[in-house]
Amino acid sequence: MSFSALELNPNLCHTLAGLGYDSPTPIQCEAIPAILAGRDLLAGAQTGTGKTAAFALPIVQLLAQAQATEAQAAEPQATEPQAAVRAIRALILVPTRELAVQVHQSFVKYAQGSGLECGIAYGGVSIEAQASRFKTGIDILVATPGRLLDHLRQGALTLSQLQLLIFDEADRMLDMGFMDEIQALLRQVPDNRQTMLFSATLDEAIFGLSKTLLREPLRIQI
Ligand code: AMP
Repeated sequence: MSFSALELNPNLCHTLAGLGYDSPTPIQCEAIPAILAGRDLLAGAQTGTGKTAAFALPIVQLLAQAQATEAQAAEPQATEPQAAVRAIRALILVPTRELAVQVHQSFVKYAQGSGLECGIAYGGVSIEAQASRFKTGIDILVATPGRLLDHLRQGALTLSQLQLLIFDEADRMLDMGFMDEIQALLRQVPDNRQTMLFSATLDEAIFGLSKTLLREPLRIQI
């Protein structure tokens, strides 16, 4: 199996070749086509399986594609696509600062050359310094739930244009008691979004959460 057989575009395949990724991992083989096709997903996958790329690669492709189409529609005579107005269209919620940094680094690697901007929000550092980096606009945000709510309350960010919502290590998020924050965040995101839930364990708590979040999800267990 190759990345191009998963319908990833030549730009992304080139980026992956440069990173030394020869072929997709099992979770990537299952998740990438499903996400590109617009499906919700419930995935049981441990760290080390390539789960980050399994959601990050199709997100980069979907958003880059949409950005190019919108820019062309706005400027039909333009020979080069014009920069579209930025809004957060993909949000990746993670339980910890360490995972936020790791996932953000992955997005920066995969989105190189796409024109997409990736941002990060986590607690324990100055909120003002973090917010000032959002002013130029971001397309993809990786965030821990509490700090993201702080930014939303301060008006530094809005999720009204969100299209893709990902919960990474959802079991740890529940273990750490983030349910109230998750509920508060869900009130601020559009209903007609695509949602993916990744978790190391799939137990009753995760199935309960998935019922409130996902629409006819594809279930993958690696
Ligand atoms: P993750 O499970 O997302 O934490 O990824 C584990 C590691 O595998 C990371 O260092 C990735 O950069 C790497 N990785 C992900 N997908 C592939 C792939 N298809 N080929 C080679 N390395 C990969």
